[in-house]
Amino acid sequence: MQIALVEVQRRIQGRVPLPRLQPDADWLAAQQQAGRPAVRFGDIPLDWSDFRLTLRQTADVLHRFHHIDRPEHDQVQMLAREGNALEPLVTNWYLATSGVEPPPAPPKFPPGAPESFDMLLLLSMRPFLVRCAEALMPRADFVRWQHGHCPACGWEADFAVVAPTGQRRLICGRCVAQWNYGSHTCPYCANDDSRLITSFQTRDGRYRVYGCDICKRYLKAYDSRGASRPVMVSVDSIATLPLDAAAQQRGYAG
Ligand SMILES: [Zn+2]
Ligand SMILES: [Zn+2]
Repeated sequence: MQIALVEVQRRIQGRVPLPRLQPDADWLAAQQQAGRPAVRFGDIPLDWSDFRLTLRQTADVLHRFHHIDRPEHDQVQMLAREGNALEPLVTNWYLATSGVEPPPAPPKFPPGAPESFDMLLLLSMRPFLVRCAEALMPRADFVRWQHGHCPACGWEADFAVVAPTGQRRLICGRCVAQWNYGSHTCPYCANDDSRLITSFQTRDGRYRVYGCDICKRYLKAYDSRGASRPVMVSVDSIATLPLDAAAQQRGYAG
């Protein structure tokens, strides 16, 4: 299923233009000061017909692999075809999950939205948000960002990489932006007591898990020191599926 999803995203991503993101320096500094991310909904180079296609294909893949049932699949297909319902739903979901605007955020979903919508929208928005992160991260000054959530889109980290310098970088689970973060701080609850972080690695030392003994969540990482290639999230998250099982056996949740 992961491979089929990567294929859908790769096809769309090639068509998405690199947006010209040049946020005002004062605005960006204020966002960072407040712990808010930098990509506004209007910055996303969202072509709605491409988005609808991605959503429909993503729903097909999830249904094919039994992640969503038939009624849910049909509900998504219908929504993707309807002109008026999809755009406000996607806009509100992004506002509610990014925190880019000052509160209050709108409700994440209207009543009756399928439960799987978080995953569907996350996967369908990724090709567009990845391009935003590509445009933004090399330019803007994110050095002072010290949060566990993404400085570009506000989503949480779901993978990490240990850079050749030994610095750990978190990787956003939505737009794959990377940012520096304390090596033994939990990105989910900010616990930085290294005695309360349980860490273990694969026998070859290539992959590592950090489990937090406060919030009981875990994070996987690729150790790029001495490695022949940089981190590749789509590959490395599949290669580390046995580590998910090991972490969950020890009582940690993803
Ligand atoms: Zn992000
Ligand atoms: Zn934690």
